[in-house]
Amino acid sequence: MSARVLVVDDLPTNVKLLEAKLTAEYFDVLTANNGFDAIALCEQGLADIVLLDVMMPGMDGFETCRRIKNTPTTAHVPVILVTALDQPADRLKGLDAGADDFVTKPVDDTALFARVRSLVRLKAVTDELRLRAAASRDYGIGDPLAAAAAETGMNARILLVDDRASSAERLAGALSPFHTVAIEPDPHAALVRAAEEPYELAIVSLDLQDYDGLRLCSQLRSLDRTRGMAVLMVCQADDRARILRGLEIGVHDYLVRPVDRNELVARVRTQVRRNRFATRLRDSVHASMEMAVTDALTGLHNRRYLDSHIPALFDQSVLRARPLSVLVLDIDKFKTINDTWGHDAGDEVLKEFAARVKSQTRAIDLVSRTGGEEIVVVVPETAGEGAYAIAERIRQRIEQEPFAIHRGAKRIGVTVSIGVASRVAGEETASALLKRADTALYVAKEQGRNRVVAAAA
Ligand code: GH3
Ligand code: MG
Ligand code: MG
Repeated sequence: MSARVLVVDDLPTNVKLLEAKLTAEYFDVLTANNGFDAIALCEQGLADIVLLDVMMPGMDGFETCRRIKNTPTTAHVPVILVTALDQPADRLKGLDAGADDFVTKPVDDTALFARVRSLVRLKAVTDELRLRAAASRDYGIGDPLAAAAAETGMNARILLVDDRASSAERLAGALSPFHTVAIEPDPHAALVRAAEEPYELAIVSLDLQDYDGLRLCSQLRSLDRTRGMAVLMVCQADDRARILRGLEIGVHDYLVRPVDRNELVARVRTQVRRNRFATRLRDSVHASMEMAVTDALTGLHNRRYLDSHIPALFDQSVLRARPLSVLVLDIDKFKTINDTWGHDAGDEVLKEFAARVKSQTRAIDLVSRTGGEEIVVVVPETAGEGAYAIAERIRQRIEQEPFAIHRGAKRIGVTVSIGVASRVAGEETASALLKRADTALYVAKEQGRNRVVAAAA
């Protein structure tokens, strides 16, 4: 993923240095030497992430950060503050200004690239959400971006894996004003808990006795049940090889001991936010996919879904030499129902019709509303006689019991005609099969309605 990194520093040598490092890692680099220019570049949408020097004449990094974060059009751009090593108070000020992360001067390459990559991932998810937001508003399923923007990254459930009591207590103590932290000293038990309890983030010590914490990180990142969690590792500063290995296997970020409390809080917050963005995105993609293939009135699949699935069902039945049948159902004189009782009553009948049809089918049957008062049922593993029996059962289920309309105030009789066709040897396509069922339906209507007609082979 190529990202555009905006480097902001009043000293040209600092800008050049960072530019060279980032370019070597295949990032696109933009530069500015003061806060005003930086804000302008952000407003033009040119930066995916900002590396912002704190000490600048005129407007300093804190103020620049505050303005970026308080402007709706730029608030989503991640900001990394570049602070002096010996100024822990700066980090607190940076957090207040809305900074997403910190690196200290002199800038350590591992830390820089890890943080930039992590935040670029966050930005990519946010951008995707921004695009989705427009689409989902069309679908009427709420605005995932508004929800995501309001996300503070607080109140997360965190699993802390550390077998040194003093260290575990210190880390948990720093986080517990903002999150719920569970301490687990045993890495094996930790994996089980991570899979079974709803944690959003795991913090794993790489200094466990008799166990390589990286192994746990790797398992957390690869198991289905835990892959959705964020993972942070805590390690010694000189453990560079394992830090790099961890980042390679997908650990999201790391902290070096002795862990600075503010830094811990900031990094945890960033990972929790990133993780929640990603979850929202998955949910909203899932919801819009569901929307696209579901009929809103009846909750059945729609025509599009049928069209995209029936060829595969047909091919499977050919390949395995198993039977396959389709039923095409159409309510009799539905126009008269609408005309007599009103369109809303017609809708009530359609919903009840869909529910009754569905209740007569199995989970493997594909039930779709394909038109106004027409439903198609694809019945795998079922030959002509079986399919006819299902159709007849449905027909009776519709005829036997009157349909409630006007919210139960009135009941009316409804009947359905059904055409049935089963795949025969040599039949080439699903649409040929559907066509034969359609023709049978037409015959049923011709013969006086309220009946089932099986297609000629
Ligand atoms: P037939 O027995 O020959 O099938 O007669 P029919 O009246 O059922 O058939 P026709 O296709 O002429 O009429 C279908 C009607 O269904 C016309 C249309 O206004 C109505 N319709 C289509 N979609 C909806 C809907 O979502 N809700 C309601 N209430 N009516 C719908
Ligand atoms: Mg009809
Ligand atoms: Mg019709």
